[in-house]
Amino acid sequence: MSVDQQSSEKQKDAKKAWIQKMIRSAKLHHKLCPFYDRKKRLCFLKLGERCPFDGRFENCSIFIGFLDRRYDEIVSAGKPLPIDFEDPLVQFGVS
Ligand code: SF4
Repeated sequence: MSVDQQSSEKQKDAKKAWIQKMIRSAKLHHKLCPFYDRKKRLCFLKLGERCPFDGRFENCSIFIGFLDRRYDEIVSAGKPLPIDFEDPLVQFGVS
């Protein structure tokens, strides 16, 4: 494996670890997905489409995709990665 491949594997692992940390943190703050509209059973991230998981977000690819994009955004802005899901950088992104 080349040095480049190794460093991109390391980055992938770091991203995976951060995403898992954010999911654990989100679970401490929220019983159901923070993007779930309980009354209408819709997903705010999917622009009002029905949530197929009834708000359980641990294995939701949409929720994970949101964190994946945030990770890239935060890292490319050179900001430190938050340790809490409620951090404004996670909630609102880099502005
Ligand atoms: S689809 Fe995923 S992100 Fe959207 S509300 Fe449901 S659990 Fe949350």
